[in-house]
Amino acid sequence: MNLILFGPPGAGKGTQAKRLVDGRGFVQLSTGDMLRAARASGSELGTRVAAIMDAGSLVSDAIVIELIEDALDRNKGAPGFIFDGFPRTVAQAEALDALLAARGAGIDLVLRLEVDETALIARITKRFEEQGRADDNPESFKVRLKAYSDQTAPLVPYYQGQGKMVGIDGMAAMDAVAAAVAGAVDGAARKR
Ligand code: AMP
Repeated sequence: MNLILFGPPGAGKGTQAKRLVDGRGFVQLSTGDMLRAARASGSELGTRVAAIMDAGSLVSDAIVIELIEDALDRNKGAPGFIFDGFPRTVAQAEALDALLAARGAGIDLVLRLEVDETALIARITKRFEEQGRADDNPESFKVRLKAYSDQTAPLVPYYQGQGKMVGIDGMAAMDAVAAAVAGAVDGAARKR
């Protein structure tokens, strides 16, 4: 079972992914976490992406596709993958379909966390105050929202066309969101 947690920055993708990891043993693949780890390690890749990330723009498709390919190879035999923050462009989605097909797998479910923009801004402002993530500052966050609407939102028709997208009310309380996510995952598992 492979699923994508889809939604704008601040929708709660990471939180819900961690719950699925704890509950079902899925492996979470977050390109944002991988890139932050690369930066923290001081690697050449980390240095290359730092300014792009802090500005709130997307790093190149080639970089994140390679990160995902390596992670798939390192986690052979996992009961399932949760893609969190990936794919973010149609080119990434096409590459993911090809990478999974080459491994005899595919995406079973795309969970779209639906949230309103005012709430997102409030959430991100709070996260910025609590965690100090550089790209949560109001200027970068605006760029991230724009990147989402320009480059990532076209994935909605892509996955709707494949009949894989399920909407989840991301404005509900965290436990209610988790229950809706669990229901959708169980439903997709029954269909396999
Ligand atoms: P996230 O934690 O998923 O919000 O990602 C933080 C930042 O990492 C993004 O604003 C981008 O600069 C970069 N990033 C993460 N995932 C991707 C991706 N799939 N494609 C391009 N850039 C990404």
